[in-house]
Amino acid sequence: MPIVLVSNLKPDAEERWTALLQAAMPDETITAGSAFQGDPRTIDVAIVANPEPDQLAPFRNVRFVQSLWAGVEKLVHNPALPAGAPLARLVDPAMSRAMAEGVTAHVLALHRDHPRFARGQRHRIWSKDPQKLAAERSVGFLGTGELAQACMALLGKLDFRRMAWGRSPKTLPGIETFAGPEGLRRMLERTEILVNLLPLTPETTGLIDRDLLAALPRGAMLINVARGGHVVDADLLAALDSGHLAEAVLDVFTVEPLPTDHPFWTHERVQLFPHVAAQTDPVSAAKVAAANVARFRRGETPHGLVDRSRGY
Ligand code: NAP
Repeated sequence: MPIVLVSNLKPDAEERWTALLQAAMPDETITAGSAFQGDPRTIDVAIVANPEPDQLAPFRNVRFVQSLWAGVEKLVHNPALPAGAPLARLVDPAMSRAMAEGVTAHVLALHRDHPRFARGQRHRIWSKDPQKLAAERSVGFLGTGELAQACMALLGKLDFRRMAWGRSPKTLPGIETFAGPEGLRRMLERTEILVNLLPLTPETTGLIDRDLLAALPRGAMLINVARGGHVVDADLLAALDSGHLAEAVLDVFTVEPLPTDHPFWTHERVQLFPHVAAQTDPVSAAKVAAANVARFRRGETPHGLVDRSRGY
């Protein structure tokens, strides 16, 4: 039975993905949904990349859906997603590694005051403060999932103090963990660098607002590499303007590309990146998808299953 790739990708990207998925699954037949000619009701596996509802709707007998993206906030609300079919998001070691590298780069730059020195250079200001070592710097993570854990493992090698907050209590070696609203407050009050790696769900939308930012110590710094919808932009700008928040590193935005008139573009204390913290590596992702399809075919539980009721 062929497998369909159903996506909103441009034709050349869809062609490339189809070829990579075919190479990773030589025993399967992979067809792009746009080129599919047969009876869509015979399809039992769909590999998807944010498909539009009308693209997915014909494949209504699908029994397993594998996403090529890690974030599934749009997909879980797709009305054409077959009810009851397990949905797996992308859990890819290459993506975890990329996120760990990206976040570690940002944490190190903030830890060593690079944004302030860059501003000093623009204004010809020669000024220095006493330095801290990583072992004296507390990094707090919103999220204790795949990507947060990969980042914390790499930061641990550099001796950073690591804390993390999730929905459920968790034990992670070498990391102080927190759960629930009271746990969040206790983590925030000791966090110098806050890294957001939550999924975007109704519960987490707008979580990084005035109250959350106020719970951080004065001079704290924010790295958002999850989703723009987690942040209330006006509250973030107010916290930066008041000096309560010293720096913000933003990789994701509510509207992407970020509109050219958005104040983030020119804010002195914002470093802006075009959603590049951890891009999907198509070669690696195709192998991850192939391994999950093989698990499904063997009757095993695929990795990275999404709980649709929770939205991640
Ligand atoms: P994950 O493994 O599903 O982890 C999600 C974490 O968030 C879990 O620890 C979960 O807690 C926690 N969480 C969810 N809802 C919560 C709530 N209401 N309160 C407290 N904690 C909550 O996800 P992941 O693979 O690490 O990915 C995280 C996100 O990163 C993705 O959803 C995506 O949006 C983003 N991302 C960004 C890029 C980029 O390039 N910028 C690339 C890839 C992914 P429990 O463990 O208790 O359930």
